[in-house]
Parts: sequence; C-alpha cells; structure tokens
Amino acid sequence: MSVMRLGYVHTRVTDLAESLKHYHETLGMQVVAEEPGKVFLKAWDEYDHHSVVLEEGGVGLVKLGYKVERSADLEDYEKRAQQFGVLTERMSKGDNLAVGDGVRLVLPSDHVVELYADVEQTGTATGVLNPEAWPRDLVGVGVPRIDHTLITAEDPVAVERFFSEVLDFRASERVVTEPGEDGDLLGSWMFCSNTPHDIAFIKGPNGKLHHFAYQLADWSEILRAGDLFAMDDVSVDVGPTRHGITRGTTIYFFDPSGNRNEVFAGGYMTFPDFPTITWTADELAKGIFYIGRELNERFTSVLT
Ligand code: CA
Ligand code: FE
Repeated sequence: MSVMRLGYVHTRVTDLAESLKHYHETLGMQVVAEEPGKVFLKAWDEYDHHSVVLEEGGVGLVKLGYKVERSADLEDYEKRAQQFGVLTERMSKGDNLAVGDGVRLVLPSDHVVELYADVEQTGTATGVLNPEAWPRDLVGVGVPRIDHTLITAEDPVAVERFFSEVLDFRASERVVTEPGEDGDLLGSWMFCSNTPHDIAFIKGPNGKLHHFAYQLADWSEILRAGDLFAMDDVSVDVGPTRHGITRGTTIYFFDPSGNRNEVFAGGYMTFPDFPTITWTADELAKGIFYIGRELNERFTSVLT
C-alpha cells in the first residue's frame, strides 16, 4: 500500500490564453483536453492523462492529486484520515476528467488533496516500444514531468504528522528553530517515492501555494530553461542556483498569473531508511539557496 507520486496540480490562473503561452509555448506541456474555463495539460514523459489543470479565475491551488498504487488502498487511507481527524469525502469517477473514484481529504493546512488509483493512461510521447530518447517535436523547455509542490501551513507539525501517519510519507529534510526537543518545526520536505521530496511545506498561511515544480534531467537543462525564460520574458524569482535542502539545482519563476513554478534537477535518491537531515533556522538561507545564501523578500512573501 503506497502513495506513488504527485499526479496532478490543479491551479487557478487569471487568463487561460496567456497561461497557455507559458505552460505550452515556454514550458512545452501539451494540451490534452479542454472544458469551459479549464485546460488539461501533460508533459512528454508522463503516461497518465494529464498532470496540470489550469482553471480560469483567480490564482493559487484548487487541489493536488496524489496517485496511489491500488484502488483497494483508498479505503484504508480514508479510514486513517478520519481517525486523524481531517475532513474526507469520496470522489467519483468523472469528478475529474479521466480520473476514477477516489478519496478527497482536507489537510490540516486547508489544502485539498485527492487520492486516486485509476486514471486514463494515454502514454508518453515516445511510447513503450523501442522508444527514442526524447520526442523530436519538443516545444520550449520541453519539461518531461511534474515533480513536487511546496505549500504553506500555519501548523507544519500537524501537516507533517498527517503525511507521515496517514499517507506513509517520510521526511527527508526538516528545518527547525533549534536542534533537539525545544526546536519548533519551520518546514519539512517529505517523500513517498525515491526522490528527495514529493511534497514540502513551510510555515505560513494555510491554503497557499508556494510553488510546483517540474523535473529536468540536469544542470545544463536548467541553464537552457533559464535561456528560454530570458527569450520569452518570463518573470524569474531566483536562479539558476542550487538548493542546500535536496541538493537540487533550480530556477524559480512565475507564470503570468503570479503562481510560482520551479524547474528542478538532481538531488539525491531516497529510500525508506533515509536518515532525515536537519537544518537550523540560522542556516535556512543556505538551505534554500546554497550558493547565494540569501532569501529575497519575494521568496518568503509571494504566495498564491
Ligand atoms: Ca519528487
Ligand atoms: Fe521545489
């Protein structure tokens, strides 16, 4: 029984046409379906139906989808979530285009998370029979897949406990005010897969999105993405640089509505016995931006 990965990010945007320029022309996601006021996109190496839903009207997260291994697990997760004391409801096939039955949970931080096992699989751009290394017709950055989200929570301890006790995630890295019993938790990076994180949260207002991230192959792809952001006049927040936390290389940037995105590459592998890394608050800037060791004002204040 396990949660496999972040399956979809459903986010609000102020203008769909403008957003498509960003998510399709610059990032290279493909539009796979449209509904009134909504566009569904996928990245080239993803095989499920879609991974990003853009909904017109406002900014910020509508919900996150995490895909679980087996439908039979959903009932257990629902039970555990109820025992934990969060709001749950069943979602039905068709509530989300191409997604089957599932369980909808409201995190202690008010974010909505949907768990599901069944989703229409439409395949990657290169297929599964003698596939090429990448598709010849990539657009822009040509992001292969989404990777993780960072959200904010008034009570990071409760969210960490939720992901650990209900969904079996583990913390790869934690930021605390001081080491030991007296320290308060300021942020936690948690994984369910073999990557450094599948969700992270830092102390802040409930219900907000800090960013969602795409995984790129390596540092040179990060630099190339940065070049494309320059060509397309994308608003860049920070980078290219490296994170201390996760050791990934990164650029933070904004979509036209002000939702923060990230391109992320590298970082270590995680396993169930991964020893959690601790950062103290006085080293937080180095943890977030290892090379510059400075947090800009935007990074901590701009949330959607
Ligand atoms: Ca990940
Ligand atoms: Fe990130």
